Amino acid sequence: MDYNSDIDMDLENRMVTTSSLPEDEGDNPLRPRTLSEYIGQTKVKENLSVFINAAKLRREPLDHVLLYGPPGLGKTTLSAIIANEMGVNFRVTSGPAIERPGDLAAMLTNLEEGDVLFIDEIHRMPRIVEEILYPAMEDFAIDIMNGKGQGATSIHLPLPKFTLIGATTRAGQISAPLRDRFGVVLRLELYSPEELSLIVSRSARILGIPCDPDGAYEIAARSRGTPRIANRLLKRVRDFAQVMSEGKITLDVARKALEKLEIDELGLDNIDRRMLTAIINHYGGGPVGLDTVAALVGEESVTIEDVYEPYLMQIGFLGRTPKGRIVLPNAYQHLGIEYNGQLML
Ligand code: ADP
Repeated sequence: MDYNSDIDMDLENRMVTTSSLPEDEGDNPLRPRTLSEYIGQTKVKENLSVFINAAKLRREPLDHVLLYGPPGLGKTTLSAIIANEMGVNFRVTSGPAIERPGDLAAMLTNLEEGDVLFIDEIHRMPRIVEEILYPAMEDFAIDIMNGKGQGATSIHLPLPKFTLIGATTRAGQISAPLRDRFGVVLRLELYSPEELSLIVSRSARILGIPCDPDGAYEIAARSRGTPRIANRLLKRVRDFAQVMSEGKITLDVARKALEKLEIDELGLDNIDRRMLTAIINHYGGGPVGLDTVAALVGEESVTIEDVYEPYLMQIGFLGRTPKGRIVLPNAYQHLGIEYNGQLML
């Protein structure tokens, strides 16, 4: 099997992907419903709690909120919590799903007073749709054109006061006029292993899986700071536990299961290891351009930036320089490759 088709196969089956997979669809019982159940992101929660309480006291909808951060960190979950805490409906759509201005207009006119409209991947909304959103966010009204050519008239349509929550992997991808219309901008951070281990224990409890604290920590430490991955690994480790130890997840079971799944102590899989090794072997450890990294893995550049890099940077394996990406000494050590001490910057 050649290098590329090997990678293609691995990409398809990637256990540590942050994308939502069909098997994650049944995750509803795992989603926290209130701010107090939502683990981690302390600063974000504290701020939100103040804004929510103040809005409730004023009997006004919450200001528009922009949430940004890598996939799988809980942006959708947090948005549903905001709606729940405000006691309003939660309406969900996504940037690429809204193709025409009319689609958005229909959605906006169907909202009730105070509702939360959640737009996932808001940076992928078409420009002509985005322009409808400006007056909707600012003045709670839209102007709809009726008819065509000379006889066209414009109808001014007032909207109920609503809260828009936009989610994106990177705030930098959003146009300035849209960004400026969000009163609250919050960044979600990767979770610590301690926080993730609370999430794993909570999910295990909900799913009725017996799980030692040590076993939960082991899963958490290999979940790349991402709750979605932690929940997925928990379910896979459960399968091994059923066969190996009558269903109980212990440290030993978790270690053996994760080894079988080829996820190492730091949560790296074959794809990460191959990517880092290829940069070292073929490009002297970098600097190497983002597009080259993307080509090495067979992924799109945005996926490298949004999904692979945040974690590899956080653990000090990959660095960004003006000339490109470099593999850092920690990664050499982890991969068992001798580091010659020269970073070519
Ligand atoms: P995003 O919208 O950022 O891609 P989601 O909100 O879909 O992420 O979260 C992915 C999964 O992770 C959810 O199913 C939820 O169960 C879990 N999750 C996310 N954040 C938390 C948290 N703070 N506490 C507990 N579970 C969480």
